Amino acid sequence: MKAAVLRAARDVSEKPLHIEEVPAPELVPGQVLLRVRACGVCRTDLNIAEGELPLRKQPLIPGHQIVGEIVDGATSELPLGTRVGVSWIGGVDGDCAYCRRGLENLCDFPVFTGYTVHGGYAQYALARRDFVYHLPAELDDLHAAPLLCAGIIGFRSLRVAGVEAGDRVGLFGFGASAHLAIAVLRSWNCEVYVSTRGASHRQLAASLGASWVGAEADKPPVELDRAVTFAPSGDVVIAALSSLRRGGVVAINAIHLDRIPEFDYDRLLWGERQIRSVANMTRSDAHDFLSTAARIKLKPKVTVFSLDEANQALAAIKNDSIDGAAVIVP
Ligand SMILES: [Zn+2]
Ligand SMILES: [Zn+2]
Repeated sequence: MKAAVLRAARDVSEKPLHIEEVPAPELVPGQVLLRVRACGVCRTDLNIAEGELPLRKQPLIPGHQIVGEIVDGATSELPLGTRVGVSWIGGVDGDCAYCRRGLENLCDFPVFTGYTVHGGYAQYALARRDFVYHLPAELDDLHAAPLLCAGIIGFRSLRVAGVEAGDRVGLFGFGASAHLAIAVLRSWNCEVYVSTRGASHRQLAASLGASWVGAEADKPPVELDRAVTFAPSGDVVIAALSSLRRGGVVAINAIHLDRIPEFDYDRLLWGERQIRSVANMTRSDAHDFLSTAARIKLKPKVTVFSLDEANQALAAIKNDSIDGAAVIVP
Protein backbone atom coordinates (compact mmCIF):
# COMPACT_ATOMS: atom_id res chain seq x y z
CA MET A 1 0.00 0.00 0.00
CA LYS A 2 0.95 3.61 -0.31
CA ALA A 3 1.76 5.48 2.90
CA ALA A 4 3.37 8.67 4.19
CA VAL A 5 6.24 7.54 6.40
CA LEU A 6 8.19 9.52 8.99
CA ARG A 7 11.72 8.23 9.59
CA ALA A 8 13.23 11.19 11.43
CA ALA A 9 11.73 14.41 12.70
CA ARG A 10 12.69 17.58 10.87
CA ASP A 11 11.28 20.95 9.91
CA VAL A 12 8.28 20.68 7.61
CA SER A 13 10.05 22.82 5.01
CA GLU A 14 12.45 19.84 4.64
CA LYS A 15 9.56 17.43 3.92
CA PRO A 16 9.83 14.94 6.80
CA LEU A 17 7.25 12.54 5.29
CA HIS A 18 8.31 10.09 2.58
CA ILE A 19 5.58 8.86 0.28
CA GLU A 20 6.33 5.21 -0.41
CA GLU A 21 5.03 1.67 -0.93
CA VAL A 22 5.01 -0.37 2.30
CA PRO A 23 3.44 -3.75 3.20
CA ALA A 24 -0.24 -3.44 4.17
CA PRO A 25 -0.82 -4.18 7.88
CA GLU A 26 -1.80 -7.73 8.84
CA LEU A 27 -4.83 -8.30 10.99
CA VAL A 28 -4.19 -8.90 14.70
CA PRO A 29 -6.79 -10.48 17.04
CA GLY A 30 -8.99 -7.84 18.67
CA GLN A 31 -8.43 -5.39 15.83
CA VAL A 32 -10.07 -4.42 12.58
CA LEU A 33 -8.39 -3.67 9.29
CA LEU A 34 -9.66 -0.47 7.73
CA ARG A 35 -9.47 0.83 4.22
CA VAL A 36 -8.78 4.50 4.89
CA ARG A 37 -11.33 6.78 3.22
CA ALA A 38 -10.03 10.01 4.74
CA CYS A 39 -7.62 11.08 7.48
CA GLY A 40 -7.64 14.47 9.14
CA VAL A 41 -4.40 16.36 9.75
CA CYS A 42 -3.89 17.53 13.33
CA ARG A 43 -1.44 20.01 14.80
CA THR A 44 -0.11 17.12 16.89
CA ASP A 45 0.99 15.42 13.63
CA LEU A 46 3.04 18.53 12.96
CA ASN A 47 4.52 18.41 16.50
CA ILE A 48 5.49 14.77 15.88
CA ALA A 49 6.93 15.39 12.41
CA GLU A 50 9.00 18.33 13.63
CA GLY A 51 10.17 16.62 16.84
CA GLU A 52 8.46 18.68 19.57
CA LEU A 53 7.05 15.33 20.63
CA PRO A 54 9.86 12.75 20.68
CA LEU A 55 9.40 9.90 18.21
CA ARG A 56 8.34 6.71 19.99
CA LYS A 57 8.15 4.49 16.90
CA GLN A 58 10.40 4.60 13.88
CA PRO A 59 9.55 4.52 11.08
CA LEU A 60 6.04 5.84 11.75
CA ILE A 61 2.92 6.37 9.68
CA PRO A 62 1.22 9.37 11.37
CA GLY A 63 -2.45 10.30 11.31
CA HIS A 64 -5.09 9.89 14.02
CA GLN A 65 -8.35 11.18 12.57
CA ILE A 66 -9.19 8.17 10.45
CA VAL A 67 -12.43 7.50 8.64
CA GLY A 68 -12.26 3.95 7.36
CA GLU A 69 -14.37 1.02 6.33
CA ILE A 70 -13.87 -2.40 7.84
CA VAL A 71 -12.35 -4.81 5.33
CA ASP A 72 -11.18 -7.51 7.77
CA GLY A 73 -11.72 -8.50 11.40
CA ALA A 74 -15.48 -7.93 11.17
CA THR A 75 -17.86 -9.03 13.93
CA SER A 76 -21.66 -9.07 14.23
CA GLU A 77 -21.50 -5.58 15.79
CA LEU A 78 -18.95 -4.33 13.28
CA PRO A 79 -19.80 -6.06 10.00
CA LEU A 80 -17.69 -5.82 6.86
CA GLY A 81 -18.03 -2.44 5.18
CA THR A 82 -19.01 -0.60 8.39
CA ARG A 83 -17.76 2.97 8.33
CA VAL A 84 -15.98 3.86 11.56
CA GLY A 85 -13.79 6.59 13.02
CA VAL A 86 -10.50 6.23 14.87
CA SER A 87 -9.01 8.92 17.09
CA TRP A 88 -5.84 9.77 19.00
CA ILE A 89 -6.58 7.35 21.85
CA GLY A 90 -6.08 4.03 20.13
CA GLY A 91 -6.31 1.94 23.29
CA VAL A 92 -5.81 1.84 27.06
CA ASP A 93 -4.91 -1.02 29.42
CA GLY A 94 -8.22 -0.72 31.28
CA ASP A 95 -6.47 -1.70 34.48
CA CYS A 96 -4.29 1.14 35.77
CA ALA A 97 -5.29 3.45 38.61
CA TYR A 98 -6.57 6.07 36.14
CA CYS A 99 -8.60 3.66 34.04
CA ARG A 100 -10.15 2.26 37.23
CA ARG A 101 -11.15 5.82 38.20
CA GLY A 102 -12.82 6.32 34.82
CA LEU A 103 -10.01 8.64 33.67
CA GLU A 104 -8.91 6.63 30.66
CA ASN A 105 -7.58 9.80 29.02
CA LEU A 106 -4.82 9.73 31.66
CA CYS A 107 -4.05 5.98 31.35
CA ASP A 108 -0.52 4.92 32.34
CA PHE A 109 -0.23 2.67 29.28
CA PRO A 110 -2.06 4.34 26.42
CA VAL A 111 -1.83 3.56 22.74
CA PHE A 112 -1.76 6.68 20.58
CA THR A 113 -2.86 6.28 16.98
CA GLY A 114 -0.28 7.58 14.54
CA TYR A 115 2.28 7.96 17.34
CA THR A 116 2.91 4.74 19.29
CA VAL A 117 1.25 2.68 16.52
CA HIS A 118 0.84 3.40 12.81
CA GLY A 119 -1.95 5.76 11.83
CA GLY A 120 -3.99 6.77 8.84
CA TYR A 121 -1.71 8.57 6.39
CA ALA A 122 -1.97 5.39 4.33
CA GLN A 123 -4.38 3.34 2.27
CA TYR A 124 -4.96 0.84 5.12
CA ALA A 125 -4.74 1.00 8.89
CA LEU A 126 -5.35 -1.24 11.90
CA ALA A 127 -7.40 -0.18 14.90
CA ARG A 128 -8.48 -1.80 18.14
CA ARG A 129 -12.06 -2.97 17.78
CA ASP A 130 -13.06 -1.38 21.10
CA PHE A 131 -11.61 2.00 20.04
CA VAL A 132 -13.50 2.61 16.81
CA TYR A 133 -16.63 4.75 16.66
CA HIS A 134 -19.69 4.30 14.50
CA LEU A 135 -20.10 7.40 12.37
CA PRO A 136 -23.60 8.84 12.03
CA ALA A 137 -24.84 8.88 8.41
CA GLU A 138 -25.22 12.68 8.61
CA LEU A 139 -21.41 12.99 8.68
CA ASP A 140 -19.72 12.25 5.35
CA ASP A 141 -16.10 11.05 5.17
CA LEU A 142 -14.43 14.40 4.53
CA HIS A 143 -16.43 16.24 7.15
CA ALA A 144 -16.24 13.48 9.76
CA ALA A 145 -12.42 13.20 9.68
CA PRO A 146 -11.60 16.56 11.35
CA LEU A 147 -14.16 15.84 14.05
CA LEU A 148 -12.20 12.83 15.27
CA CYS A 149 -9.47 14.66 17.16
CA ALA A 150 -9.88 18.40 16.71
CA GLY A 151 -13.60 18.08 17.31
CA ILE A 152 -13.55 15.59 20.18
CA ILE A 153 -10.71 17.32 22.02
CA GLY A 154 -12.29 20.73 21.43
CA PHE A 155 -15.47 19.31 22.98
CA ARG A 156 -13.50 17.91 25.91
CA SER A 157 -11.88 21.34 26.35
CA LEU A 158 -15.33 22.87 26.81
CA ARG A 159 -16.04 20.22 29.46
CA VAL A 160 -12.70 20.82 31.21
CA ALA A 161 -13.41 24.57 31.20
CA GLY A 162 -16.76 23.80 32.82
CA VAL A 163 -18.81 25.62 30.19
CA GLU A 164 -22.48 25.97 31.05
CA ALA A 165 -25.33 27.06 28.79
CA GLY A 166 -25.36 30.82 28.26
CA ASP A 167 -21.76 31.37 29.44
CA ARG A 168 -19.45 33.97 27.94
CA VAL A 169 -16.66 31.88 26.46
CA GLY A 170 -13.38 33.07 24.94
CA LEU A 171 -11.62 31.10 22.21
CA PHE A 172 -7.98 32.13 21.83
CA GLY A 173 -6.80 30.93 18.44
CA PHE A 174 -9.20 29.84 15.72
CA GLY A 175 -7.93 26.77 13.89
CA ALA A 176 -9.44 23.35 13.29
CA SER A 177 -10.51 22.71 16.89
CA ALA A 178 -11.94 26.15 17.67
CA HIS A 179 -14.02 26.39 14.53
CA LEU A 180 -15.80 23.19 15.62
CA ALA A 181 -16.08 24.20 19.28
CA ILE A 182 -17.85 27.44 18.34
CA ALA A 183 -20.69 25.49 16.73
CA VAL A 184 -21.17 23.45 19.89
CA LEU A 185 -21.07 26.64 22.01
CA ARG A 186 -23.64 28.37 19.82
CA SER A 187 -25.92 25.34 20.19
CA TRP A 188 -25.64 25.87 23.98
CA ASN A 189 -26.55 29.57 23.57
CA CYS A 190 -23.14 30.74 24.71
CA GLU A 191 -21.71 34.13 23.75
CA VAL A 192 -18.39 33.47 22.04
CA TYR A 193 -15.44 35.90 22.01
CA VAL A 194 -12.65 35.03 19.59
CA SER A 195 -9.08 36.41 19.64
CA THR A 196 -6.97 35.14 16.78
CA ARG A 197 -4.27 36.11 14.34
CA GLY A 198 -5.04 36.25 10.64
CA ALA A 199 -7.85 38.21 9.01
CA SER A 200 -9.37 35.13 7.38
CA HIS A 201 -9.66 33.34 10.73
CA ARG A 202 -11.38 36.41 12.16
CA GLN A 203 -13.81 36.49 9.22
CA LEU A 204 -14.57 32.81 9.65
CA ALA A 205 -15.20 33.30 13.39
CA ALA A 206 -17.60 36.16 12.68
CA SER A 207 -19.43 34.13 10.05
CA LEU A 208 -19.83 31.26 12.54
CA GLY A 209 -21.57 33.46 15.07
CA ALA A 210 -18.89 34.95 17.32
CA SER A 211 -20.26 37.87 19.38
CA TRP A 212 -16.90 39.63 19.16
CA VAL A 213 -13.75 39.01 17.16
CA GLY A 214 -10.33 40.54 17.80
CA ALA A 215 -6.69 40.16 16.86
CA GLU A 216 -4.33 37.90 18.78
CA ALA A 217 -3.40 40.52 21.39
CA ASP A 218 -6.84 42.14 21.70
CA LYS A 219 -8.74 41.76 24.94
CA PRO A 220 -12.43 40.80 24.79
CA PRO A 221 -14.67 43.71 25.87
CA VAL A 222 -16.32 41.69 28.67
CA GLU A 223 -15.09 39.46 31.51
CA LEU A 224 -15.22 35.85 30.40
CA ASP A 225 -16.69 32.95 32.36
CA ARG A 226 -14.53 30.42 30.54
CA ALA A 227 -11.72 30.46 28.03
CA VAL A 228 -10.03 27.86 25.86
CA THR A 229 -6.61 28.49 24.34
CA PHE A 230 -5.53 26.67 21.20
CA ALA A 231 -2.24 28.30 20.26
CA PRO A 232 0.98 26.60 21.46
CA SER A 233 1.89 29.82 23.25
CA GLY A 234 2.06 30.60 26.96
CA ASP A 235 1.55 34.31 26.22
CA VAL A 236 -1.89 33.40 24.89
CA VAL A 237 -2.66 31.48 28.11
CA ILE A 238 -1.85 34.61 30.13
CA ALA A 239 -3.95 36.77 27.80
CA ALA A 240 -6.87 34.41 28.37
CA LEU A 241 -6.31 34.40 32.13
CA SER A 242 -6.32 38.21 32.21
CA SER A 243 -9.76 38.20 30.57
CA LEU A 244 -11.45 35.94 33.15
CA ARG A 245 -13.90 36.84 35.88
CA ARG A 246 -13.28 35.49 39.39
CA GLY A 247 -13.94 31.75 39.52
CA GLY A 248 -13.37 31.44 35.77
CA VAL A 249 -11.37 28.71 34.08
CA VAL A 250 -8.81 28.67 31.27
CA ALA A 251 -8.50 25.28 29.57
CA ILE A 252 -5.34 24.84 27.51
CA ASN A 253 -6.00 22.76 24.42
CA ALA A 254 -2.39 22.20 23.40
CA ILE A 255 -0.15 19.20 23.81
CA HIS A 256 2.91 21.45 23.64
CA LEU A 257 3.48 25.03 24.86
CA ASP A 258 6.58 27.15 24.32
CA ARG A 259 6.63 28.19 28.01
CA ILE A 260 4.42 29.98 30.52
CA PRO A 261 5.71 33.47 31.20
CA GLU A 262 5.90 34.81 34.72
CA PHE A 263 2.61 36.45 35.73
CA ASP A 264 1.06 38.35 38.60
CA TYR A 265 -0.70 35.87 40.89
CA ASP A 266 -2.53 38.55 42.92
CA ARG A 267 -4.17 40.12 39.92
CA LEU A 268 -4.55 37.20 37.50
CA LEU A 269 -5.00 33.92 39.38
CA TRP A 270 -6.27 34.86 42.83
CA GLY A 271 -10.04 34.84 43.08
CA GLU A 272 -10.27 31.10 42.40
CA ARG A 273 -9.41 31.43 38.77
CA GLN A 274 -8.02 28.19 37.36
CA ILE A 275 -5.68 27.11 34.61
CA ARG A 276 -6.21 23.53 33.46
CA SER A 277 -4.66 21.47 30.72
CA VAL A 278 -6.66 19.19 28.45
CA ALA A 279 -5.08 15.79 27.97
CA ASN A 280 -6.29 13.35 25.34
CA MET A 281 -9.91 12.21 25.40
CA THR A 282 -12.14 9.41 26.60
CA ARG A 283 -14.41 7.20 24.54
CA SER A 284 -17.41 8.86 26.14
CA ASP A 285 -16.14 12.27 24.95
CA ALA A 286 -16.04 10.77 21.45
CA HIS A 287 -19.52 9.25 21.59
CA ASP A 288 -21.08 12.39 23.11
CA PHE A 289 -19.38 14.73 20.67
CA LEU A 290 -20.16 12.68 17.54
CA SER A 291 -23.83 12.47 18.46
CA THR A 292 -23.86 16.24 19.19
CA ALA A 293 -22.17 16.88 15.85
CA ALA A 294 -24.80 14.86 14.00
CA ARG A 295 -27.64 16.59 15.88
CA ILE A 296 -26.41 20.13 15.20
CA LYS A 297 -25.37 19.17 11.64
CA LEU A 298 -21.81 20.25 12.27
CA LYS A 299 -19.97 20.70 9.00
CA PRO A 300 -16.30 21.62 9.32
CA LYS A 301 -14.61 23.68 6.68
CA VAL A 302 -12.11 21.36 5.00
CA THR A 303 -9.28 21.53 2.49
CA VAL A 304 -8.45 18.22 0.79
CA PHE A 305 -4.91 16.98 0.13
CA SER A 306 -3.80 13.75 -1.57
CA LEU A 307 -1.41 11.39 0.21
CA ASP A 308 1.34 12.67 -2.10
CA GLU A 309 0.69 16.14 -0.66
CA ALA A 310 0.99 15.08 3.01
CA ASN A 311 3.98 17.39 3.63
CA GLN A 312 2.05 20.30 2.12
CA ALA A 313 -0.86 19.50 4.43
CA LEU A 314 1.45 19.73 7.46
CA ALA A 315 2.89 22.99 6.13
CA ALA A 316 -0.61 24.40 5.72
CA ILE A 317 -1.32 23.71 9.41
CA LYS A 318 2.00 25.20 10.45
CA ASN A 319 1.56 28.35 8.40
CA ASP A 320 -2.14 28.77 9.18
CA SER A 321 -2.60 29.05 5.44
CA ILE A 322 -5.99 27.31 5.28
CA ASP A 323 -9.22 27.97 7.16
CA GLY A 324 -10.63 25.09 9.14
CA ALA A 325 -9.16 21.61 8.75
CA ALA A 326 -6.88 19.73 6.37
CA VAL A 327 -7.91 16.24 5.30
CA ILE A 328 -5.84 13.67 3.42
CA VAL A 329 -7.66 11.38 1.01
CA PRO A 330 -5.35 8.45 0.20
ZN1 LIG B 1 -5.00 2.60 32.06
ZN1 LIG C 1 -5.00 15.35 17.19
